Amino acid sequence: MTKRNPHMARLSANYLFPEINLRKRQFLAQHPEVHLISLGIGDTTEPIPPFITRALTEGAAKLGTREGYTGYGPEQGEQSLREQIASKIYQNKVPAEDIFISDGAKCDLGRVQMLFGNEASIAVQDPAYPVYIDGSIIQGIKTIVPMPCNPENNFFPCLEALSRTDLIYFCSPNNPTGVAATKTQLQQLISFAKANRSIIIFDSAYAHYIQDPSMPKSIFEIDGAQEVAIELGSFSKIAGFTGVRLGWSVVPEALKFDDGSSVKADWKRVMSTIFNGASNISQCGGQAILTETGWKEVEALTTFYMENTRLIRDTMRRLGYEVFGGENAPYLWVRFKGRHSWDVFQEFLEKFHVVTTPGIGFGPEGESFIRLTAFGHRENVLLALDRMRDGKT
Ligand code: PLP
Repeated sequence: MTKRNPHMARLSANYLFPEINLRKRQFLAQHPEVHLISLGIGDTTEPIPPFITRALTEGAAKLGTREGYTGYGPEQGEQSLREQIASKIYQNKVPAEDIFISDGAKCDLGRVQMLFGNEASIAVQDPAYPVYIDGSIIQGIKTIVPMPCNPENNFFPCLEALSRTDLIYFCSPNNPTGVAATKTQLQQLISFAKANRSIIIFDSAYAHYIQDPSMPKSIFEIDGAQEVAIELGSFSKIAGFTGVRLGWSVVPEALKFDDGSSVKADWKRVMSTIFNGASNISQCGGQAILTETGWKEVEALTTFYMENTRLIRDTMRRLGYEVFGGENAPYLWVRFKGRHSWDVFQEFLEKFHVVTTPGIGFGPEGESFIRLTAFGHRENVLLALDRMRDGKT
């Protein structure tokens, strides 16, 4: 018989969403008349705006003509899209040559881990998007150092207490806490990485939600990042492209391994070996997003979701809840001191008929929190808040 990858057995069971669904099913079996509302969705809910949809449709139609048909694209993605990303997303602080178009940040996370092998040690924010840890475990990585992020340290890890690791995963704005790092904090992180000769894997999937102009939307806004960081970006939450699939990575020319060799050269090799390019249709959509008209459309989408966030945040604070995040991200992190997050989940389900996400699913620091998200139709958000207002004892 063929042996299983032994690292798979080290993964903790992926119980979070199956358990949420089970509890929902059990509740609905007893109360079939109830209309449950989810404030726990990590997926976009609003349609892709018309100008961008048209570009996707036209991109598909072109493939049905002899003149318009294209097959495999350039290895790093369409040059014009890379240039648009360099100018629109990075204000040319990053050259187009360092940008690689992909099928999304999650897929890039999996591939990035191949650059470093299974001897690498990693540090990860706690709580965090589970892919950083699970993806690393699948690759055989053993040393995983948590970086606790909580209200007491303003959700920024205590770097003085942190041991050296080869990689530091950092997500800002963070999923699930909804807190974004300041320029000063990212400067500290970069200095720490430089002093320790570590590489930062910076996940900027939610950067478009940053409202405060003083907050960095990219690690490359900070001097010195080019020598220590890789950034992973995504169109998923910018434009409702979670199903379309389009993202990018930035691997700077200046980034080196300890033997002086180029990380970018290896990344090119990994990408061209096990990835065959993002869909040409998605890339047409991406090009449309980054035009003036497309950008206006996605700004309106973000404004819509951030209004949801504001409504939830303000209402819940007024009701006395301890709410964090949500100023620069579509996520809210609500604390229930001394309680287990699954108990709070159950209470919201039974009392308000509202589905949330228990914080413990994102790491031990999430134990007394639940995550709420801005992704949802407005009428559902308002109805959920009405229920909390009426039902709170
Ligand atoms: N990074 C974070 C922090 C996320 O929350 C998500 C999706 O929820 C992703 C990456 C995945 O992005 P993509 O859809 O581009 O794969």
